[in-house]
Amino acid sequence: MRNAAIIVAAGRGRRAAKAGALPKQYLPLGGQMVLTRSLAAFVNHPEIDAVLPVIHADDLALFAQSVATLNSPKLMNPVTGGESRQQTVVAGLEALASHRVKHVLIHDAARPFVSARIIAEAISALSAHRACLTALPLSDTLKSEKNGLVERTISRDGLWRAQTPQAFHFSAILDAHRSAAAQGLNDFTDDAAIAEWHGIDVALSPGSERNIKLTNAEDFHLAEQFLKQNVGEFRNGTGFDVHAFEPGDAVILCGVEIPHNRKLKGHSDADVGLHALTDALLGAVGLGDIGHHFPPSDARWKDADSSRFLIHAAKLLARKDARIVNVDVTLICENPKIGPYREAMRARVAQILALDIDRVSIKATTTEGLGFTGRAEGIAAMASATIEITPKE
Ligand code: MG
Repeated sequence: MRNAAIIVAAGRGRRAAKAGALPKQYLPLGGQMVLTRSLAAFVNHPEIDAVLPVIHADDLALFAQSVATLNSPKLMNPVTGGESRQQTVVAGLEALASHRVKHVLIHDAARPFVSARIIAEAISALSAHRACLTALPLSDTLKSEKNGLVERTISRDGLWRAQTPQAFHFSAILDAHRSAAAQGLNDFTDDAAIAEWHGIDVALSPGSERNIKLTNAEDFHLAEQFLKQNVGEFRNGTGFDVHAFEPGDAVILCGVEIPHNRKLKGHSDADVGLHALTDALLGAVGLGDIGHHFPPSDARWKDADSSRFLIHAAKLLARKDARIVNVDVTLICENPKIGPYREAMRARVAQILALDIDRVSIKATTTEGLGFTGRAEGIAAMASATIEITPKE
């Protein structure tokens, strides 16, 4: 698989609440556990293929609660972490070692506000570098102290605050962690530090002030404030497409092959449903149409599986920090009958877009024998998509 994420959630952090309370990643934040939010950010990201939680052995029941609403094939079964953060990450890396992972993003469960944009930029940086640290330049003036007094002012030039995710070529960070463990070095506080120690250049990628690490009760208060201001901008896009029939024995509609006495004519697989839906997504963010991104004149798209177009649109949305709220497709034809395939189509679209199935609607109608669809010359499809653009970071 290409991009996996490890969510580091084995800590015992209890500074955030009263004694005896839950570890902070299982505390509620705006009605959802912190860990649920952190996992969802990666599970719902179109460029992430798998998400591995690393948890504490005592937290299995809490963990089960935290993922109860996350129905995604991308979510892997959790593995158990170690004594230190470093050992916990190693446990995650070793669990992924047999999965042919190309890139891995390592993220602290206590940063639930990581945005789709941050994840996308960390992955992008890996095309030029083996390691990438999400970070922010320091804006506060720094002082050192001695005996309760300011000793001196420290220049903040060139100083950055490390955040997560930290992204790596998988084999590079696995080697670095194995070497550190073999030498008994166990006081690294983040994975970028291990990469640096191992001689790997670490690139910087912009984090955000919202991507805070929840540590104490004040952080939770601040996080609740973020959530109150967190209503983004909702937008809608629509799409429409038509493909004509030609001789053949099956059509592909919304990613599902349906036996029929003809096929749809087109440069790609002619999936009129996914084309209309791709246009709806592009339309919601003002990014043109499918023909602009995938010109029919380009031989690369000959007979292409149209899910590629939809995935591309979903990635463009993620880069704009846009979350898909729901999509609705109407297929217009006399035949084939859509009903028997409707649930399979919903499941396929939900899978491609990493959405819950109840956010995906597929409907069908005829035109009562009127017009080109009525004469069974082709199939038309309409789609609409609602998206929410996350407030500026
Ligand atoms: Mg088309």
